[in-house]
Amino acid sequence: MEKHHHEHHHEHEHEHHHEHGLREQLVKIVVTVVLLIAAVLIEKHTALTTWQLLLVYLVPYLLIGFDTLKEAAEGLAHGEAFNEHFLMSVATIGALCIGFLPGAETQFPEAVFVMLFFQIGELFEGYAEGKSRDSIAHLMDIRPDTANVIRDGNTLTVSPETVEVGETIVIRPGERIPLDGVITDGVSALNTVALTGESIPREVGVGDEVISGCVNISGVVKVRTTKSFGESTVSKIIRLVDDAGEHKSKSETFITRFARVYTPVVVFAAVALALLPPLFSGHFATAFPVWLYRALLFLVVSCPCALVISVPLTFFGGIGGASRNGILIKGANFMDVLSKVDTVVFDKTGTLTHGQFQVDAVHPEKLDERQLLHLAAHVEHFSTHPVGAALRDAFPDEATDGCQVSDVEEIAGHGVSATVDGKRVCVGNAKMMDAVGATWHDCHLVGTVIHVAVDGVYAGHIVITDKVKADSAETVSRLRELGVRRTVMLTGDREEVAKDVADRLSLSEFHAGLLPTEKVDYVERFLQEKPDGAYLAFVGDGINDAPVLARADVGIAMGGLGSDAAIEAADVVLMDDKPSKIASSIRIARRTLRIARQNVAFAIGVKVAVLLLAAAGLATMWMAVFADVGVTVLAVLNAMRAMRCREGMEGD
Ligand code: ADP
Ligand code: MG
Repeated sequence: MEKHHHEHHHEHEHEHHHEHGLREQLVKIVVTVVLLIAAVLIEKHTALTTWQLLLVYLVPYLLIGFDTLKEAAEGLAHGEAFNEHFLMSVATIGALCIGFLPGAETQFPEAVFVMLFFQIGELFEGYAEGKSRDSIAHLMDIRPDTANVIRDGNTLTVSPETVEVGETIVIRPGERIPLDGVITDGVSALNTVALTGESIPREVGVGDEVISGCVNISGVVKVRTTKSFGESTVSKIIRLVDDAGEHKSKSETFITRFARVYTPVVVFAAVALALLPPLFSGHFATAFPVWLYRALLFLVVSCPCALVISVPLTFFGGIGGASRNGILIKGANFMDVLSKVDTVVFDKTGTLTHGQFQVDAVHPEKLDERQLLHLAAHVEHFSTHPVGAALRDAFPDEATDGCQVSDVEEIAGHGVSATVDGKRVCVGNAKMMDAVGATWHDCHLVGTVIHVAVDGVYAGHIVITDKVKADSAETVSRLRELGVRRTVMLTGDREEVAKDVADRLSLSEFHAGLLPTEKVDYVERFLQEKPDGAYLAFVGDGINDAPVLARADVGIAMGGLGSDAAIEAADVVLMDDKPSKIASSIRIARRTLRIARQNVAFAIGVKVAVLLLAAAGLATMWMAVFADVGVTVLAVLNAMRAMRCREGMEGD
C-alpha cells in the first residue's frame, strides 16, 4: 500500500502544483468578494469623491486583476496584443475611467466584477483541464515502479528499468506487471482494463505472453521478460499518450487562427462604436460616455473564452475517453478524420485474422516432411512475420541441431531466403519461387501455401491456416451501419484464402497476391476515388504495411501484435487488436465532434445576441459578464461529456 502511495505521489506531482494554483485562485476570489462588498458599503455610507472611490475600488480590482493586467502587458511587449487578457484589461480600465467623463456615472464595481468573473471562468477552466488531465493520468497509473527480479536465487525489488531481457520476475497478486514477457510458472487471471477497456479478466498460464500494465489478480506467476522496460507495452503507451497531449496544438491552430482575426476585428469595432455614433450625433461631449460604455461592454462580451477553452478541452476529453476504451488517438486532428471515414481498407493477416498460423499439411517433393519443416524453421529463424513464427513453432528444436544459417534475407511480400549448411534455401510464396526459377506446384487445400526451394530446385510446400478474429464480421457490419461505403481487404496472401475470408466477412471487395508497394498503389487509387470531404482509413498490424499506414488519411494499427514501426507510423492504435474498435473509434470521434460543434454554435450564438444588445444599448455590464462566464461554464461542462465515452454508451 505504501508503495502505491509513493507511486501516486510521484505521478501526480504535476497535478499537485496545479491544485495548489487553483486553491490560491479561489482564496483570491473570496477575498475580492469581501473587499468588493466592503467597497460598496463604503460608497453607500460615506460621501467620498470620485477619486477617493477609485482608490477604494482599486484594492479589490488590482488584487483580482493584477495577473490579467500583467499578462496583457506582457502580450503587448511580445507584440501579441490581441488576446483575451488584453480585451479584459481594456474593458475594465475603460470602465474605471468612464466615471470621470462629464455627465457619466461611475462603473467601479462593474470593473471589479468583470475581472472577478473572468477569474472565476479561469478557475473553472483550470479545474476542468485538471479533471481531463487526471483521466489521462489515470491511464498513466499503469506505470509500475518496481519489479521483483530473481537474481542468484534471491528475489530483489528493483526499478523496472534495471531488469534485463531474459531475466525472471515474480508478480504477486495485486501487483502490476512491470515488463512484457512469457509466463514460466504459475497460473492467474489478469485485469487488462487499463490497457484495453476490457473488464473481463484474462486467464493465463505457463507459456502465455503477458504485457506490462495489466494487474495480476489471483495467483503468483513467474515471467521471463522478453522486452526491456523502455520497449515494453507500458512505456510505449505512456509515450503515445504524452505525445497525444502535444499533438493537441494541431486542433488549437483553429482557435489561434480564429483569435488572430477575431480579436483585432472586435477591438476596431469597439473603437468605431465608441467614436463614430457620437461624432455623427452632433453632441459629442454628451454622447461619447454612453457610446464608450457600450463599446466597453462590447469588448467584454466579445471575449471568446468559451471557444478558446472548450474546443481543445472537448478534443482532449474525447482522446481521454477513447483511451479508456483501449483506443489511442494520437492527435485531435484525427478525430475529425475518423468522424468522416468513408473507406476502410484492411490488411488481412494479424488484422482481420489472428496472425497465428497452424501447420495444416506438409507436402514434400524432394525431402521428407521433417527435413522440409526443419529447413523452413531455420530460414525463418529471425523473421518477425507471423508466417515465420508459425514455421518456427512447427519445428521447435531447430536451435539445438548445429546447422549453420547465414546470409538471411527477408523480402517483404515474398518470403525469406538464407544459406543453410552451404545450400541456398528459399521459403516463401509463389512469387518468390518464380523469382528464383523454381517450378512450384499448387495445392488443392485452402490455406496459405509456403513453398520451399533448395538451390533453385523445388522441394515442396507447407500449408498453414489462420483463423478469422471473432469480431471481424461484426466489425464490417457495424462499419456499414455507420455509413462506411467501402470495406476493402488487401493481402499478400493467395487469392483462395483471401476470397474465403472476404466472403465470410462480407467485405465489399478484396485484392490478393499484393506486394507491399502494390498495397500503397491500391490505397492511392482509393484515395482518389473517394468523394470530397470523405476520408480513408487503413488498418494493419504493421508487418509489411507501415508505408500504407502512413499514406492513409488515418492509419490504424493493432497495438498488441503490431510492430513498433506500425505503432510509430499509425495515427490510431488499438491496444487489444480487436477490429471492432475501429467502429467504436469512429463513434467516439463523431460524438466528440458533435460536442465541439454544439459548443461553438452555442457560444457564438449567445455572443452575437449580447453583442447586438450591447451595441443597441440594451445590455448592462452585468449581463455581459454573465453571458461570458455562463457560456464558458456550460461549454466546459458540455466538453467534459466527451470524456465519458464508454463502449456501448457512445451512441447518442
Ligand atoms: P498480408 O497482406 O496478408 O499481411 P504480407 O504482405 O505480410 O501479407 O505477406 C504476403 C505473403 O508473403 C504471405 O502470405 C506469405 O506467402 C509471404 N511471406 C511473407 N513473409 C514471409 C516469411 N517470413 N516467410 C514465408 N513467406 C512469407
Ligand atoms: Mg500483414
